[in-house]
Amino acid sequence: MEIRTYGDGTLRRPAKPVDAIDDEIRAICERMVETMLRANGAGLAAPQIGISKQIIVLDVEGEFHILINPVLIETSEEVEQVREGCLSVPGVDAPVDRAVRAVVEGTTLEGETVCIEGEGLLARAIQHEMDHLNGNLFLDRLSPARRRSLLKEYRRQREESA
Ligand code: ZN
Repeated sequence: MEIRTYGDGTLRRPAKPVDAIDDEIRAICERMVETMLRANGAGLAAPQIGISKQIIVLDVEGEFHILINPVLIETSEEVEQVREGCLSVPGVDAPVDRAVRAVVEGTTLEGETVCIEGEGLLARAIQHEMDHLNGNLFLDRLSPARRRSLLKEYRRQREESA
């Protein structure tokens, strides 16, 4: 399963809610988990594999979650700046401000409502994947100057590897 990269339209579209957990949704989740594991990612959102649905998967420090129709219900006022990258913008990273604590509520594949509270890396991954469902990327959170230099570096690397 190929990961969509910067410039792909699906990454910029707000994802649609999942109506029912059926075989199609189960198959999408399976593909997302496989793709995340193969890419060594801490998380993945469905738009990253070209599917505009509200599904995220997370794999951070032993915490593994599949969340359908996730909603960010709380973020701490306290923020921290940590370097962050994205499987859809490979090869570059930048310091991004994120809340140090985040609470997300969503539905599991079994149809149960769960509430996941994360700190540090897990909180960051939750916020990062939720951004994807809104059509946003981590680089949107950078200053215009920083974003320009990050994209310049990204394009330079792409040209070199092309
Ligand atoms: Zn990402």
